Amino acid sequence: MNQNSLIQNYQSVINKVKQLSQQHRQSDSAVNLIAVSKTFPSADIRTLYEQGQRHFGENYIQEWTQKTIELADLDIEWHIIGQIQSNKSRIVAEKAAWVHTVDREKIAKRLSEQRPVNLPPLNVCIEVNTSGSDAKHGVNPSDVLALAQTIVTLPQLRLRGLMCVPSHMDDVVKLEQELALMQTLLQQLQAAGLAVDVLSMGMSADMEAAIAAGSTHVRIGSAIFGHRHYPA
Ligand SMILES: *Cc1c(COP(=O)(O)O)cnc(C)c1O
Repeated sequence: MNQNSLIQNYQSVINKVKQLSQQHRQSDSAVNLIAVSKTFPSADIRTLYEQGQRHFGENYIQEWTQKTIELADLDIEWHIIGQIQSNKSRIVAEKAAWVHTVDREKIAKRLSEQRPVNLPPLNVCIEVNTSGSDAKHGVNPSDVLALAQTIVTLPQLRLRGLMCVPSHMDDVVKLEQELALMQTLLQQLQAAGLAVDVLSMGMSADMEAAIAAGSTHVRIGSAIFGHRHYPA
């Protein structure tokens, strides 16, 4: 995409997020925008950085590693929003600010062990399977509290909240049920005494429903960068 269209898309997403967050909550608690740049070149990230964007989301560790090298001169907060295999956890622990997709104790422990002690704790969210289907990533709602209680004992992690990718994007009633479940689960963690306040939900297609349901961090890719072409 040419850089003018990219900037235009970005500005209109910013305005949309601002408008929706004012519409659905107090005007002072804004919704954070994570620009999801997977499959798009470092040059696009640099363009948005120059517009003031600091939070970028990436899914594929190998692709992202290359971008951290190309963009090492920028003060980017990287959000990992894809699955992390154990053998790729070290670079994440060293270079990311956030991981949204923690879904098992083993990966949480590795990330904590590998997080350099001179860095602030890695911000993490637990990915929840809100769909009720086995095929989806994330932990089952009934297992969220136990995993959360483990994560808060890990010194180099800071549990921030919950993340989901709803499965019912085109069925509004089911979508809203999945998003509402997230709010319920977050309150359950708070009732158990955990200091969590993040709901990472909302993509290009469900941004409005997610913000209405209390999202604090939307992860927007194609509405900013355009249609993705995955390498074969
Ligand atoms: C790709 C991706 C996004 C962005 O999706 P868009 O539909 O392009 O906005 C958000 N979250 C996750 C987990 C993703 O994998």
